[in-house]
Amino acid sequence: MCGKPVNERLLSPVSWSLPEWMGQFLAPLPSHFATDEERMGVAVSCARRNILEGGGPFGAALFGEESGELLAPGVNLVLSTGLSILHAEIVALTMAQQVLGMRNLAEAIRGGVALYTSCEPCAQCHGALLWAGISRLCIAGRREDAEMVGFNEGPKSPWPQWGEELEERGIRISRDVCREEARAVLDAYRAQGGVVY
Ligand SMILES: [Zn+2]
Repeated sequence: MCGKPVNERLLSPVSWSLPEWMGQFLAPLPSHFATDEERMGVAVSCARRNILEGGGPFGAALFGEESGELLAPGVNLVLSTGLSILHAEIVALTMAQQVLGMRNLAEAIRGGVALYTSCEPCAQCHGALLWAGISRLCIAGRREDAEMVGFNEGPKSPWPQWGEELEERGIRISRDVCREEARAVLDAYRAQGGVVY
């Protein structure tokens, strides 16, 4: 018996990386950020820079919750990679897991890990962040802000139910942190005719 030949491309690695501009973006930043606004500033600045570089209007950043150490940034890489799952939150979580060598971030960082995201997590990211070991989720823009530009957040429990579902699993939530700044990035994306995917 001989089966169908295996498509060699199925056996090749899947790879992606943060955009090249990220090195220059990160270089002048301090290593630690004290306040929610400062930390969200990193996530929103990632989103702002990403749209100037041809990416989607979403950014994220992971911090040690107590220490304020920047663990990993994230930007939406869907357009540059052609991979539908590479939302900013997934990129930041995956980067941190790789750098720390730990799938459960709670085990890697004392004092908890906080995810800051420029927009409310979609259905996919909502599910993914349950398994990453974060202790806090901080959100700038709301679902309706993304939908105003044409993005679809997917099927998810309505607020406040989805928030309660996360809180039940030990993830505390703050909303509307720097919401206006995040909305401004979405508005700019729409104004420049950015692709909605
Ligand atoms: Zn998402």
